[in-house]
Amino acid sequence: MEKSHTLEEKKSRSGRSSRMSDAFGALELGGTKAVVAVGRIVAGQAVIEEEWRYPTTSPEQTLAQAAAWWRERGGVTSVGIGSFGPIRVDRRAPDFSSFLRTPKQGWEGFSLGDFFAHHLPQTRLSLDTDVNAALLGEMRQGAAQGLRDAIYLTIGTGIGAGVCAEGNLVHGTLHPEIGHLRVQRHPDDNFAGVCPFHGDCWEGLASGPAIDKRWDRPAHLVEPEHPAWEMQAWYLAQGILAACAILSPAMIILGGGVSQATGLHEKVARHLDALSAGYFENLGSRLTAPQLGQQAGIIGAMLLNEI
Ligand code: ADP
Ligand code: ZN
Repeated sequence: MEKSHTLEEKKSRSGRSSRMSDAFGALELGGTKAVVAVGRIVAGQAVIEEEWRYPTTSPEQTLAQAAAWWRERGGVTSVGIGSFGPIRVDRRAPDFSSFLRTPKQGWEGFSLGDFFAHHLPQTRLSLDTDVNAALLGEMRQGAAQGLRDAIYLTIGTGIGAGVCAEGNLVHGTLHPEIGHLRVQRHPDDNFAGVCPFHGDCWEGLASGPAIDKRWDRPAHLVEPEHPAWEMQAWYLAQGILAACAILSPAMIILGGGVSQATGLHEKVARHLDALSAGYFENLGSRLTAPQLGQQAGIIGAMLLNEI
C-alpha cells in the first residue's frame, strides 16, 4: 500500500531534486470560468509560465479547449485539476473523477478521467476540489506557509472550504460540504434562504446570492455601512466557529468575492471572538485574507501534479 506523506514531507522530497521538472498542466475548473495553465514545479514551488481564462460551458467543450491549449504548447505529461463539485476525488472509487448531483447543466455524471483516457492518453491526472487546491497554494506559497492545520473558506456564489489537518488535505468519503452546515438564525432575520436543498443552511443564508436576494441588490453593491454586513459577519462567525470546534485550525483563510467587502474581516473577527465567549483562544486573530488572491487556485492545481 502506498505510504501516505504529509504536505511538508512531499515538499521536502520534491525539493531534494533541484532539477527542473517537465512541463505540467494545471486547470482550475470553476462553475462559471476556467483557468488553464502550463508551468513547472521547482523546489516544491509552482511556477506558472502561461495561463488563459475562459468561460466554463459544456464539459466536453471546456475540457477540449484546455486539451487543445496544452497541445499548442507542446503538450504536458501530467495535469493537476482543482474542480468545482460535488466530484469524486477518491482515486479508489469506481466513479473517480465523475461529477455528482450538480444543478450545472450537462455536468452530472461526466467523468474527467474518461475524457482524459480518450483525448489525452498517457497524461497523468491529479484531481482535488477547487478549494483544496486553493488551500494547497496558500500553504506552499501564500498565507499559510509552514502550517499543518488550516482552512480555506470561500464565500462567493456558494460557501465551500478546503481543509488541511495535520499536514494532509482532507476529503472524507466525498469532500467536506461545509456550506450546508446548520447555523443559528440571526434574531432580526426572517429571510427563507436560497439553498435549493435546505433553504436556510449556512450557504442558504450567507452566500453572495443570499445577500443579493435578502437585500434586493448584489452583494458588491451593498454599501459598507449597511446593516447587511453585521448580519453577514454574524453568520460567517457561526459557521467558522463550528469549523474551528471540529478541526482546530491554526489559520482560517477567508476568500471568495463576498470576503472582499470593506471591513468584513474585522467584523467577522469581532463576532467570532464574541461567540467564542473566552472558550476558544484568539479565533478572531486566526482569520486572514488569501495572499495569492486570484492565483491561489491555479497555483494549487499546478502543485497537485506532485501530490
Ligand atoms: P464564484 O463563487 O462564482 O467563484 P466569487 O467568489 O467572485 O464567485 O463570488 C461572487 C459573489 O461575490 C457575488 O455574489 C458578488 O456579488 C460578490 N462580491 C464580489 N465582489 C464583492 C465585493 N467587493 N464585496 C462584496 N461582495 C462581492
Ligand atoms: Zn444547503
